[in-house]
Amino acid sequence: MIAARPACTPVSAADVGGALENQVEELSQRYFLQNIVRWQSVNLVPLLLIGLCSMSLADWRTTAVLIVLNLACLVAMFAVARRLRSAAHPPSETGLWRGYNILSFGLGALWAGLMLPVAPTLGENIASTFVCVIIIASVAVTSMVIATRWSAFLHFLAGLVLCLLPQTIIFIDAIGPIPLVATIGLVPGFWAMASAVRQQDRTLIRTQLEKEHLAQELALALERAEFLANRDSLTGLFNRRAFEALANSLRKKAGDAPLSLILIDLDHFKTINDRHGHATGDSVLQRSARLILDSVSPGDVLGRGDGAVARWGGEEFLLLLPDCPLPRAMHIAEHLRQGLVRMADPQWPESLIVSGSFGVASWSPDAALHQCISDADAAMYRAKQAGRNRVEGHDPGRDAQERIAQAG
Ligand code: GH3
Ligand code: MG
Ligand code: MG
Repeated sequence: MIAARPACTPVSAADVGGALENQVEELSQRYFLQNIVRWQSVNLVPLLLIGLCSMSLADWRTTAVLIVLNLACLVAMFAVARRLRSAAHPPSETGLWRGYNILSFGLGALWAGLMLPVAPTLGENIASTFVCVIIIASVAVTSMVIATRWSAFLHFLAGLVLCLLPQTIIFIDAIGPIPLVATIGLVPGFWAMASAVRQQDRTLIRTQLEKEHLAQELALALERAEFLANRDSLTGLFNRRAFEALANSLRKKAGDAPLSLILIDLDHFKTINDRHGHATGDSVLQRSARLILDSVSPGDVLGRGDGAVARWGGEEFLLLLPDCPLPRAMHIAEHLRQGLVRMADPQWPESLIVSGSFGVASWSPDAALHQCISDADAAMYRAKQAGRNRVEGHDPGRDAQERIAQAG
């Protein structure tokens, strides 16, 4: 049955946009945590190169200590990222992210600290210059890599600048003012670069999410269109076309197992409409349809409302019962007949009593569906003739005689 749709609060474009932005944030955080260990491992190569270059420097011990501290900071960041990946609840995440930001600050300061042993000899010693270039390249790569997590990037940049700036001022006599100016210029430069990477990341995630939303909406629309194409809009039962397709497939599946068909025609329905109005007539059709669906057991395919129960015409219903011999179908039909008579509704006038005439036929494996429907129709006609509100089974001899009589 089609249930009435609950009234839903309208969703504004701002709500949808806000929900999308939340999802973008959540996904970008997830991707960040999934990939950060791999991306930051790239830093091991420049640290190794700096270690090799520092062998030719006078103050190689300071460089070695800073490299070890840098490695320790990276390991700590990897550990926090792993914990964050498995953290299920936001409160524990908040503390972990704070820790990650502090470590990012430390990492920025340590990269800047690596400049300390080479700053006084910059321009004089090729190894010092090489170390300086490696540091700037590594810092640029790290900025881009952690740009997705903006607060971590800001901490990294702050640590870098706060440690680099004093060095360029202390060694200004030896290295001149250019490193100082360059350090000040690093802030907007790295900021712009990291911001572009972050935007691009988020745009990609947003596009992917929008595509998924569209695909979901399309699938829902197709499902709804398919439902509407197969159902009768008043009762929610299958329409003729869908019933025929389903019945034929059930017949094929059943093999030699017995199948039965019940045709139900409500009695004097025109009078119900005339006396009580078309709306009451519609309500009778809806209640009768629900009764037919509910009367078959819930474990059965029919009980789930997706079986072969159809509104065959105006006030006619068809019920296909798989794995059901004729006597059992007759019993089910009798149960339904009594149910129809007992049916009541607070909206209906008390004088309104509904009844139906039932024709039951069994569907032999070699017969066409329409032959079986015609047999059930002939039995239903006999029920009408016999006074209505009764069940008749198909009887080939009597039904043939009836047809001859009708033709005569
Ligand atoms: P009988 O006992 O011989 O079957 O008599 P009947 O009045 O039920 O049969 P008849 O075929 O003369 O009338 C069927 C009526 O069903 C006529 C039509 O207006 C009405 N009907 C068909 N579809 C609908 C519907 O969707 N809603 C309502 N309210 N009435 C409908
Ligand atoms: Mg009829
Ligand atoms: Mg009728």
